[in-house]
Amino acid sequence: MSTVIPIRAETSAPNTGCTDVVPLVERGQREVFCGLTGIIWLHRKIQDAFFLVVGSRTCAHLIQSAAGVMIFAEPRFGTAIIDERDLAGLADVHEELDRVVGQLLARRPDIRLLFLVGSCPSEVIKLDLSRAAERQNQIHHPRVRVLNYSGSGIETTFTQGEDACLAAMVPGLPASTNTAPALMVVGTLADVVEDQMRSLFERMGLQVNFFPPRNSQTMPVVGPNTRYLLAQPFLADTARALQSRGAQHLAAPFPLGVEGTTAWLQAAATEFGVAPEVFEQATAAPRHRAEKALAVQRQMLQGQRIFFFPDSQLEIPLARFVNRELGMDLVEVGTPYLHRQHMAEELALIPAGTRISEGQDVDLQLDRCIADAPDLVVCGLGLANPLEAQGITTKWAIELVFTPIQGYEQASDLAGLFSRPLKRRLKLAA
Ligand code: SF4
Repeated sequence: MSTVIPIRAETSAPNTGCTDVVPLVERGQREVFCGLTGIIWLHRKIQDAFFLVVGSRTCAHLIQSAAGVMIFAEPRFGTAIIDERDLAGLADVHEELDRVVGQLLARRPDIRLLFLVGSCPSEVIKLDLSRAAERQNQIHHPRVRVLNYSGSGIETTFTQGEDACLAAMVPGLPASTNTAPALMVVGTLADVVEDQMRSLFERMGLQVNFFPPRNSQTMPVVGPNTRYLLAQPFLADTARALQSRGAQHLAAPFPLGVEGTTAWLQAAATEFGVAPEVFEQATAAPRHRAEKALAVQRQMLQGQRIFFFPDSQLEIPLARFVNRELGMDLVEVGTPYLHRQHMAEELALIPAGTRISEGQDVDLQLDRCIADAPDLVVCGLGLANPLEAQGITTKWAIELVFTPIQGYEQASDLAGLFSRPLKRRLKLAA
């Protein structure tokens, strides 16, 4: 390994970092987006899928403004609006939904996979979308497969939308008939990142399937021979669903930064018996490039104090990255949920004694944040303006989900997402 990035030295005693951390658990008012947000990256990934939100005008506005209006292409998301007549029980919502789906599929023969996406209003009126999906499948399958999941904001956080969507797809994945172990990467990655990862695995002699696929007609097979790596840390339900099909999880940190990416690739290499020299040959060049690029970013970020509000569920892997590869000091690392099993490798790399919080009581957390006066705060959009008004520099957590940040080639861009707001603050102060 190059010495450009001074990854913290391990002592001879086993260093378990925050493995046994007792988080500060808060269950109060929360400031997070809902799971509909996941449609923004999912509709770009699965290119023959359509996401039909069954919701209110508020849901339609959220999804329209967050995903942008596509002028030159037909959008692959829309909202079937539940209106007053539906809420008052004056109309048969199932009948109306059947009509909307029928119209949509007649007009859009390119749609091969249709998601009926539940929302707060559809949950409140207890609209059974699984029954609706079943009925639609009887009409439209095999030309179109219809699935359903919930993107509601009631008691969920925004990345759970992807988890619910992928989990809904797992029962329909074709069964593997092979016995030889096969590698699957689970979690939406930008196409450019997926291509880089595929190429790295191929250089190690490994074939890999990605889930979700780019096209619903090329769903990966799954079975007891499947070994899967999670590319995203927010896929608890998807992982459970895959395991119920016999797949086995390869425990690893997440592929953020040089260290995370190397350990993530190594987990697959070890499982599939890749020789150390083959692994080294496959990874050395991009790893050294990334280490060099990070050394530049580190000059700006070393010693800066960072506070994470709970939002995307990426917080713990990001905290590990900024601390170990950029030298930032962790003031508080908030996460909506602490999934100890999926986070075990990450927690072991977080310095012991770090304040880790789970859930949120936003007023108390804001008080702590202001008292701590960190140099940089990663938070949801709703908190950024009030904090900036108090002179605290912020980074929107959602940008870290929308931007390709995984893998060696993106490590520097990821660091840039933390250094840019600090540079902007310095320029404004000058
Ligand atoms: S699903 Fe709920 S939180 Fe999300 S936009 Fe609709 S009403 Fe708002």
